Amino acid sequence: MLPNLPFDPSNLLIAGRWRPADDTLPLTNPSDGLDLTKIARGTAQDVDDAVAAAQAALDGEWGEYTAAERGRVLTRIGQLVLENVDLLTRLESLDVGKPVTQARADALALARYCEFYGGAVDKLHGQTIPYLNGYTVYTLREPHGVTGHIVPWNYPMQIIGRSVGAALAMGNACVLKPAEDACLTALMFAHLARDAGLPDGALNVVPGLGSEAGAALSAHPGVQHLSFTGSVATGAAVQQAAGGNVVPVTLELGGKSPQIVFEDADLETALPFLVNAGLQNAGQTCSASSRILVHHSRFDEVATKMADAYRAKRIGPAESDPDIGPLINAKQRDRVMAFLDRATDVPILAEASVSDDLPAGHYVPARLYGPAAADHPIAQQEIFGPVQVIIPFETEEQAISIANGTEYGLVAGIWTRDGARQMRLAKKLKSGQVFINNYGAGGGVELPFGGVGKSGHGREKGFEALYGFSTLKTVAAFHG
Ligand code: NAD
Repeated sequence: MLPNLPFDPSNLLIAGRWRPADDTLPLTNPSDGLDLTKIARGTAQDVDDAVAAAQAALDGEWGEYTAAERGRVLTRIGQLVLENVDLLTRLESLDVGKPVTQARADALALARYCEFYGGAVDKLHGQTIPYLNGYTVYTLREPHGVTGHIVPWNYPMQIIGRSVGAALAMGNACVLKPAEDACLTALMFAHLARDAGLPDGALNVVPGLGSEAGAALSAHPGVQHLSFTGSVATGAAVQQAAGGNVVPVTLELGGKSPQIVFEDADLETALPFLVNAGLQNAGQTCSASSRILVHHSRFDEVATKMADAYRAKRIGPAESDPDIGPLINAKQRDRVMAFLDRATDVPILAEASVSDDLPAGHYVPARLYGPAAADHPIAQQEIFGPVQVIIPFETEEQAISIANGTEYGLVAGIWTRDGARQMRLAKKLKSGQVFINNYGAGGGVELPFGGVGKSGHGREKGFEALYGFSTLKTVAAFHG
């Protein structure tokens, strides 16, 4: 059951005021398939109002805030997030089906984003540029204006932290469209931001369907920057819509991220990273490590140890804090099961199964496959479920070629003690992040994050997000 909330979850937040929507959508609990509550079904008119409210905030009080003042508000929001970690954790577990420990980590990460961007924003300087005699030239970092944030259901708090947090820090005014499958923590975040003193209209939240509120936001002529995280197809549609208004877009679209285990790898250290980076959030992680590339000499050892780890994993309702919770909805469950049903030609090394006594949620077994051919569909396509494949290789060149051999490039991990090999691979892997003897699965508030290829473009997190959520003005003054 939903705990008491300090806001009505069926409302939208526009111009600092909660208001009912014309229509609502049901929000269900993935752990038992039961309705949790109703959320707003935002319309194009609501998006229009939210964009107007954001623009009014920029033209008013919010637009006058100094960097230090914006930083102070963000830091206060971070403090309130910390004070409400238990409630945020509970909401995320109920709404996303995320095991409690993992939901709590997301709530703490949201607080860290607010602290990081709150502390960073008044340390961001322009440049002075030597030019012709008689000139002084400098650059100014300015907000884009109204920024649109279309957020998926898998990591609402982390993605709001990294995109809305950085955008507010730079002085933009935001319109946030959370996913129709999970939007309670987005609403709670907006509630806390109001309590922290964020001026009206600086953050507006319009829940609703992607095809309605999402499409209206991506095509809105009053939006000056869009940040999207989700599927490749929807990202391409968002970019196309934004193109009509010649608006920059940051796209974070997922991956098929490899970890490469060489013959000299420290397997004891590697093992939890190999397994958990694939199973975290039931594999519904853009930076999940779904491909494990293993030197043929260590294949049996890695396969045996990973298989043992799989058999020990417990699948269950999110609030019982299992290792693996349910998938977000029936559509995702059917999609993942279709992958499993088709992969009959790849050996199953191990499975964590779904016990019969679970409630009627969206559970799938966690499955480890291998050896798999590098071009097999389960080794190429993003499954977005608790599924990993082990792919053997013989040489370093072959490992690089397999690792780079998908249409994605988000994160890669290398396990070797050979320093020269570490440096060579870090350069040769086509990936937005490379982890050496660890695997971050997108973690690290401070670490710039984003993809190449169909994993997307643009960078969020770290200082890079402050550049991304601002535009550079060059001022050339002639004074003789
Ligand atoms: P999606 O990309 O359709 O949805 C993500 C967000 O985009 C949601 O807020 C949704 O409402 C919005 N949206 C949908 N259609 C839109 C449109 N036409 N214009 C603007 N916004 C729109 O993702 P999904 O359907 O929920 O999941 C499908 C697949 O996407 C998954 O199986 C997975 O492979 C991938 N996915 C990736 C990530 C990631 O973190 N990279 C997150 C979620 C889903």
